[in-house]
Amino acid sequence: MKRKGEKEKERGEKIIEAAVCPFCACLCDDVVISISVAENKIKEIRNACTFGVKKFLSAEKTERRIKKPRVDGKETSYEVAIEKAVSILREVKKPIIYGMSNIGCNAQRVALEIAKLKKGVCDISESICHNFLYQELRKGEYPFYYALLDEIRDNANVIVYWGSNPLRSHPRHLSKFSLYPVGRYAMKGVMDRDLVTIDLVDIELKKISRWFFQVNPGTGEDAKIAEIMKQLVKKETNNGELRELVKDTAAIDFDTIVKITDRLKKAFYGVIFVGLGIFSSENALRNVKAIFALVEALNKEGVKFVMFPMKGHFNVMGAVQLLLRETGYPFGVDFSRNRIFEPGKTTVLDVIKRKEVDAALIVGADPFSSFPKDTVRKLCDIPVIIIDPFESPTAQFSTVVFPAAIAGVEAEEIAYRMDGLPLKLEKILNCDYPSDKLILERLLESL
Ligand code: SF4
Repeated sequence: MKRKGEKEKERGEKIIEAAVCPFCACLCDDVVISISVAENKIKEIRNACTFGVKKFLSAEKTERRIKKPRVDGKETSYEVAIEKAVSILREVKKPIIYGMSNIGCNAQRVALEIAKLKKGVCDISESICHNFLYQELRKGEYPFYYALLDEIRDNANVIVYWGSNPLRSHPRHLSKFSLYPVGRYAMKGVMDRDLVTIDLVDIELKKISRWFFQVNPGTGEDAKIAEIMKQLVKKETNNGELRELVKDTAAIDFDTIVKITDRLKKAFYGVIFVGLGIFSSENALRNVKAIFALVEALNKEGVKFVMFPMKGHFNVMGAVQLLLRETGYPFGVDFSRNRIFEPGKTTVLDVIKRKEVDAALIVGADPFSSFPKDTVRKLCDIPVIIIDPFESPTAQFSTVVFPAAIAGVEAEEIAYRMDGLPLKLEKILNCDYPSDKLILERLLESL
């Protein structure tokens, strides 16, 4: 009798049992993929969400791929494109190397070496997404109560999503790490847990939340809710005075806040997952501070609570860890200065706005789609080199374009999950494109 693996081999199939999905920072590591070796095609994908499935199948979506390297809009060979990119980087005084959250750790290391060699700026998407979190952490005013996702899954029985909608951004987050899985102290999974959601919009999570607050954007209501909860935990102010504080705020029902705070105080273990909803408003710093203070107050009262930032891109944590290890700073480092890290001075939007950089090497990012218009206009004035598997507005406007293999689908790599756990990404399919690491190495060698 033939064993399972032998039968698959005869049929020309290969099954990867625990592939890691390289779409979001959950890096789900239980994806099963069956491949037809002869056709170099994915036959079946199990366990991934629709985003994950799309990412794995994106290798086959040839209409979205960059077909060949381009210089000044004309298709050319990798050799010619490398020559042009090297001549640009040699001539300029201070380039910016930006992106890095959607590439593997090996490629990130080479990109950082180029930034150091050229005494340029190296920045990642964190400088835009979680800038205020790091600013608050650097002040050292509050301890950072933090935990790995496995610890949260095992212990947490009160889950708060604040300014984040995992159903839209990290679809398996709820089933793998927070609300649904069986934990050591939540044996009945969702039945043993309570979900609280606070967001700017009426999101789907409302339906499964025990309590839901929709706050008004730009009003500071997030911070107000956290501040009131903190005072209720600390019993600093009487309820009458606190009720006065929110009497003009339509979104906040004081009695509900009291009930939620009561539940937080009785948690065996709780977690607040914070998302871009609290970081991207004008009150971001106040929001972060207030949530830090709430978590601290709960811990001081003897309730174990952690705060966990929801990271988006699949390897943003790899980039943060690399920069912290090599420079001591999480993003926006400028190797041309003595003080290499000053948010607001050394970060991507600022150096472009002040025309401090004279070329850009973009790896795994699309700043033309995500940056403010005036920054994009300034980017148009300098030569841009891009390495990416897919066409994008940035690729359309770049001086040199390098198509690359998709990390975790067509190239082996390493990535860090959102809690900092390193995982190996498999090469699932063969392809003719070089990896981004290889392209970066060629640039570094030639420089
Ligand atoms: S949740 Fe994220 S990592 Fe997991 S399968 Fe979906 S896209 Fe992939």
